[in-house]
Amino acid sequence: MSERKLFGTNGIRGLVNIELTPEMAIKVGCAIGTFFGRKNLLLGYDARTSGPMLAKAVISGLTSAGCNVFFAGMAPTPSLQFAVKNHKMDGGVIITASHNPPEYNGIKVIWSDGIETSHEQEVEIENIYFDNKIVFAEWNQLGMQRELSGINDEYVQAIKKHVNQKKIAEKHFHVVVDAANSVGGLTAPTLLRELGCKITTINANIDGTFPGRMPEPRPESLMDLSSTVKAIGADMGVAFDGDADRSIFTDENGTIYWGDKTFAIVIKQFLLENPGAKIVTPVSSSTLIKDTVQAYKGDLIWTKVGSVTVSQKMKEVNAKLGGEENGGIFYGPHQAVRDGSMTTALLLNIMAETGQKLSELVAEQPQYFIEKGKIECSDEKKEPLLKKLLEQVKGENINTLDGVKIWFSDNSAILIRPSGTEKVFRLYAEAKNQETALKLVKDYSAKLEKILETL
Ligand code: MG
Repeated sequence: MSERKLFGTNGIRGLVNIELTPEMAIKVGCAIGTFFGRKNLLLGYDARTSGPMLAKAVISGLTSAGCNVFFAGMAPTPSLQFAVKNHKMDGGVIITASHNPPEYNGIKVIWSDGIETSHEQEVEIENIYFDNKIVFAEWNQLGMQRELSGINDEYVQAIKKHVNQKKIAEKHFHVVVDAANSVGGLTAPTLLRELGCKITTINANIDGTFPGRMPEPRPESLMDLSSTVKAIGADMGVAFDGDADRSIFTDENGTIYWGDKTFAIVIKQFLLENPGAKIVTPVSSSTLIKDTVQAYKGDLIWTKVGSVTVSQKMKEVNAKLGGEENGGIFYGPHQAVRDGSMTTALLLNIMAETGQKLSELVAEQPQYFIEKGKIECSDEKKEPLLKKLLEQVKGENINTLDGVKIWFSDNSAILIRPSGTEKVFRLYAEAKNQETALKLVKDYSAKLEKILETL
């Protein structure tokens, strides 16, 4: 963590007791409490071993600044976000490091609408923290701590209202749930059982050391899920990340699909039911998303990369559907944040309504080949490099919201953007065939290297 910075893309993250210590968590709690100013806040955590320790420290800080803390215990991030809105809290704090390994933890701040605080609000909290502008409450105005139980069940009941429960129940779907030994296991199996599905779980026991697999649902870490689905003849497999806001699926053959494929399935159905609707997605999303929105006549709205940006754009333009290709789908009628269990219910709803298997729904989609590359670039040279590159690509079909994305007439595309955390520029190319994607990465890497020589 740099000198005046606490927050990254999704909250404060760090190695427990090294970068993120209890002392720091108390002070962060004081700063968040000062930022809100004697309000009612909800607090909960995921399954990490450091959750209770950090939660107590943050609660100490929050109550010292006069905030009342409603403690919800262990819950998925989207369940806590839903409860903030549902219980009309002024905000919330979630102790989670999402998909990071078990030695990490983090602190996310939630606004009263259930969405993570904006970058500007995070800077306010950082200023309070670093400039020691903490306002402690008088001894007789300290915040209180109360328990708030039952939020996970309220969340499950809320999701059910958005799908055709009868139709799903009639299908008797068999679903394998891989809960990553974390909080997804607290809601998804209950939700699916109540929707009339037959459930088989793996990695379902809560264990903050994540013995089953790492909490990032990558295809290579989901082989157990894939083989279980195949072995028992299930209809679908679902794997959650550590805080269960993202979900990655397998079809009935155990084939694992990256999140763009499932997002495209949800987009198609949503646009059939809501003609002309706005769909929000970051510029890093694949051409499949663009194709699907165009094919079903939706209104595609690009954003910078980052889940908070997607949520805020949805709110700003009143869009009801957003998504990222990492398996984060934002279903506005429920809440405009990533939600793994909601996504699972939506997919089952589509399978029930269309009578199609997941493999059949994916088979309809256009296929793209993806190639990635990166070139080294110091932090100082990132901006001038991007500027020069933009001069060279002028006139093409481009988007410059975040780095530069270029679409070509053969429907291939490349995204070139400086990494926020590493000294590199990343290139992601997509095309109808592997050779074209490879050539794009090669050509644009050469272009970047050539510019770099002049800087
Ligand atoms: Mg997550």
